[in-house]
Amino acid sequence: MQIEIDNISFDIQQIPRKCPICHYESEPIYKSGTIINYHKIDIAFHCTNCHHMFIGKYKKLQTNKYTLVDTWPKTLRNINFEIKDISPNFVKLYEESICAYDSELIQLAGIGLKKSLEILLKDFLLHLNQNDADVINKYTLEESMENFNKKINVIEISNINDCMKKSECYNTKFEQSDIVRIKALINTISNAIRSQIL
Ligand SMILES: [Zn+2]
Repeated sequence: MQIEIDNISFDIQQIPRKCPICHYESEPIYKSGTIINYHKIDIAFHCTNCHHMFIGKYKKLQTNKYTLVDTWPKTLRNINFEIKDISPNFVKLYEESICAYDSELIQLAGIGLKKSLEILLKDFLLHLNQNDADVINKYTLEESMENFNKKINVIEISNINDCMKKSECYNTKFEQSDIVRIKALINTISNAIRSQIL
C-alpha cells in the first residue's frame, strides 16, 4: 500500500489484520500517518468490527519499504463474566500472560498461563466446596486438574491433559506450541466451567 504523510510517499508492506482492541480479524481502513523518525512511522487504522482507531507501528526495511512491527493499544481479551465472578485472579493473570505472549515473551507467558490455569481450577473447586479450602489451596496444578476431572467429566480435558504431559508443559521450559496447547486447555476448561455454572 502506498500512503502519503506530509507530502512524502511511503511504501507500506502489510496492513494489520487483527485489531488489538477487539481482537477480531478484519480489513482495517487506513486513516492517517505520522513520521516518528527516519526509520519509524505510525499509522492510524479504523477497525471495521469495533469501530475504534488503533495504531500500526512500522519500521523501515533496507528496501525502503516499511514493515509492520507492532500494534497499539495493547488491550486485553474479553473473558466471559461468569468466569470473572468465580476467578478474578485467573482473569487478571491470564490477560497479562497473553500480553506477554503477544510481546513474544514466551517463557513469561508460559509460566503465567500455567499459574493462571491452576488458579482457575482451584477457584472453581472452591466454588463447589468452600469447606475444603485448606486442602484445595495446597493442590499442585496436576492435583487441581485431577480433582477437576473428577467433578466434571469432559473427555477433551483428559486428552489435552495427556497431551500437556507428553509435551512437557508441566516443566518450566516453554515452546510456542506449548503455549498454544495451554491456551486451548484453558479455553476448554473455562467453557466447561461456564456450562456448569449457568
Ligand atoms: Zn476492533
